[in-house]
Amino acid sequence: MERITSFSVDHTKLTKGIYVSRIDGNLITYDIRMTDPNVEPALEPKAAHTIEHIGATLLRNGNYKDKIIYFGPMGCMTGFYLIVKELDLKIVNNLIKDVFRQIAMWNQDIPGAKAKECGNYRFMDLNEAKKAAAYFIDSTWQHEYHYL
Ligand SMILES: [Zn+2]
Repeated sequence: MERITSFSVDHTKLTKGIYVSRIDGNLITYDIRMTDPNVEPALEPKAAHTIEHIGATLLRNGNYKDKIIYFGPMGCMTGFYLIVKELDLKIVNNLIKDVFRQIAMWNQDIPGAKAKECGNYRFMDLNEAKKAAAYFIDSTWQHEYHYL
């Protein structure tokens, strides 16, 4: 089998930041890399799940809600995938900073964290989610380039 493109990116050279990962027609996949891969600790899975619930809720209620296709965690727990319709890197950069700032200050119930709404609703850690979001937006991450 062929090695897929995302495994061809040298993860030892990646740092925190937002990257254009793929462009498929008018759909753009962004990698929101929250920690330096293999150098810093990855996200706690419960924190990632919590960020997914709050982040998806904010993105799907915000100014660009009609452009949001998907938001979810990377299996390696170093960040998130965001798939959008025709939103450029500058807009996504500001949008993500805004969303993660709100996650870092979240003081309400976690959206969708009920048995009826989620397949593992107890698998949440709001404090860790807030810490991880704050760490991400506080760090210097000006690596907004394509790795295509
Ligand atoms: Zn869930």
